[in-house]
Amino acid sequence: MALALVDCESFYASCERIFRPDLKHVPIVVLSNNDGCVIARSTEAKKMGIGMGVPWFKVKDSFLSQGGKVFSSNFTFYGDMSARVMNILEGFVPEVEVYSIDEAFLGLDSLEEHYNLYDFGCHIRSLIKQWTGVPVRIGIAPTKTLTKIALNEAKRVNVPTKVHQISTVKEIREALKNTPVRDVWGVGRRLGEHLNQAKITNALQLADVDPRYIKRKFSVVLERTVRELRGQRCLGIENNAAAKKQIVVSRSFGTRVTDLKTLRPIVSNFAVRAAEKLRNEKQKCSQVSVFIRTSPFSDHKPQHTGYKTIEFSTPTNDTRDILIAAKKALLPIFKPGYDYAKAGILLSRFSNEEIKQYSLFKDPNEPKENSKFMKHIDELNAYETQIYFASQNTKKWSPMKQNMTSPKYTTSWYELPIVNRLIVKKYK
Ligand SMILES: [Mg+2]
Repeated sequence: MALALVDCESFYASCERIFRPDLKHVPIVVLSNNDGCVIARSTEAKKMGIGMGVPWFKVKDSFLSQGGKVFSSNFTFYGDMSARVMNILEGFVPEVEVYSIDEAFLGLDSLEEHYNLYDFGCHIRSLIKQWTGVPVRIGIAPTKTLTKIALNEAKRVNVPTKVHQISTVKEIREALKNTPVRDVWGVGRRLGEHLNQAKITNALQLADVDPRYIKRKFSVVLERTVRELRGQRCLGIENNAAAKKQIVVSRSFGTRVTDLKTLRPIVSNFAVRAAEKLRNEKQKCSQVSVFIRTSPFSDHKPQHTGYKTIEFSTPTNDTRDILIAAKKALLPIFKPGYDYAKAGILLSRFSNEEIKQYSLFKDPNEPKENSKFMKHIDELNAYETQIYFASQNTKKWSPMKQNMTSPKYTTSWYELPIVNRLIVKKYK
């Protein structure tokens, strides 16, 4: 019985290095939207003591003066690199659960009798590195919770191959003993403190408590964790991620927005993006909500928060319907005289796009529902937005303050990396 957890190392920072070999040993940090906080650090940056989530302005001067390199987040690029890594995994392993942008669980039960799993892990790791440039770490163990422990253990003892398997009772107990209880998957800081008070400080102590006691004293969820630590599999690989129940597209603005003329195209952009995501999920929605708010941090200024939901009589995933609804929702909640700091759109009440459900009464605003038309637009816009809706903001002005974004190396024809300028010139 074996599962694996594949984790991309310092993922966003590693991505920034792929097309910039000159940054190989340079400390790198990546910032959140609007360049507010540090959300990813290369190993070198971690060594410099840059903490996760620290406000950029606090560390900026010292980081840059020590030769560090900073990037605004480039999620288009990271998302594409993530998809490439996941694709490789899916090519080799029948059971893959994409857990987050930089993590995936693998079900290795069917491979166990044919392969040495450690060697298999090393092979996959080197292929991913060679084909995408992304460095990964792999933890192999009998349960999901233990794969995380295997990864921690690999870090602790500094396994040079970055692949670590724990399978014998001795190996597992040794790894558990060296894991603080708060680092166990699903425990966290707050629950960790409660457990510490009960004299449970490391994962081994937690594994040795009677699960029935844990269930009574804490929760069923923690009981499951205890069983998983003991090597009893409670969580399987989920191949089909559960269908989403809602889609939110929202942003904080780098510069405040005060007028409807500026705000509306931004909300339209969110609506277009949300509708794309909805079609991607093969869903339709019956509700569109828009929210806007001022900044709670500038409390010396007047505050306003607005939220409105529009319902469709028939579910739709046509961008034009969603744009009309977004406008209808935005107009009554917008009040002039405020500095807006954030806006967003939320699509909800989903139904499968294949199921047609008609309203009992004829609706004068019947949804457009021309899926062919939308499909063509999605195809045209897949790699570079070529078609905009009239109410959109076409990039001329962005509410985001992001000045240090790397090119969209892999998803935009206009930003492809140039390998060697001399060769390009020669053949021109
Ligand atoms: Mg990671």
